[in-house]
Amino acid sequence: MARQNMTASRIKPGTAELLTLRVLRRERISAHFSRVTIGQEDVAGFTPMGFDQWFRLFIPVAEDSLSRLPRTLNALSYAKYLTIAKTTRPVLRNYTVRAHRPDGPDGPELDVDFVLHGDEGGGPAATWARSCTRGDAVAILDEGIGFNPAPGRDRFLLVADESGLPAIAGVLASLPDTATGHALIEIPEDDDRQPLVAPPGVEVGWLPRARGAVPGRTALAAAQDLPAPNTPVHAWVVGEAGLAVSLRRHWVRAGIPKNDIMFCGYWKAR
Ligand SMILES: Cc1cc2nc3c(=O)[nH]c(=O)nc-3n(C[C@H](O)[C@H](O)[C@H](O)COP(=O)(O)OP(=O)(O)OC[C@H]3O[C@@H](n4cnc5c(N)ncnc54)[C@H](O)[C@@H]3O)c2cc1C
Repeated sequence: MARQNMTASRIKPGTAELLTLRVLRRERISAHFSRVTIGQEDVAGFTPMGFDQWFRLFIPVAEDSLSRLPRTLNALSYAKYLTIAKTTRPVLRNYTVRAHRPDGPDGPELDVDFVLHGDEGGGPAATWARSCTRGDAVAILDEGIGFNPAPGRDRFLLVADESGLPAIAGVLASLPDTATGHALIEIPEDDDRQPLVAPPGVEVGWLPRARGAVPGRTALAAAQDLPAPNTPVHAWVVGEAGLAVSLRRHWVRAGIPKNDIMFCGYWKAR
């Protein structure tokens, strides 16, 4: 079964060209999150769209390896990217715009919140987010937003694990003040809560995971416990693939039309 339907519903950016940016700051914001702020170089070419705007992140693995990247990403250029030798091919991962400020101390800047998964290293992106320093280069390719409700919806069910915390934060900050509903956010521990901007009618529930619990199960159980909606909703779930797929199935059984559900597996537990 597909682990997402975001490709069909997403709102693409006006232009999507590879942008080279530099690390400006790195801050450990909680037990499991590193916030990396990037800007300079091509940052003027980035257009913030709000909501769960995400991008392809290319992390260099060798001196000058970003210069080998294609300027845009389509089936052909992705195939070309794959032909770059593994020793020099930049790592490609997907991340979310946590914040965009047009007027940072070094000009426009973007915050990216990385989950520090894995006790020591985690994957290449988490490892990079633990160690990058000011001036390090990365490249990004804007992919636009996945949150695209049918017109007229003002009631929402939003569910995410920690990998979707930046996205749910962006969605909540972008919704109109009249929005109502629930936002459920599973986090590794209580320390990973963040201050959020949200409409007053959306109830935000933080769900710290019990030690050893399977990621996504806590959010799944809490979302399944919510009363079935009796008015049209837009339902949106992102995070570990099992959470996204299982909750989408639950919502369909509860009578939410498939077109009113956006689900996306952000990562897969192995
Ligand atoms: C549209 C989109 C937006 C995303 N936005 C963000 C974001 O803003 N912040 C963010 O942190 N992640 C985000 N993710 C998820 C992120 O892309 C993945 O977690 C990615 O796999 C991390 O890369 P890595 O190199 O650290 O680990 P990988 O090399 O991909 O994986 C190494 C191992 O770590 C495990 N793993 C990967 N991610 C996690 C995790 N979060 N928790 C526990 N184990 C994990 C894998 O199962 C694998 O066993 C997003 C994903 C998508 C599709």
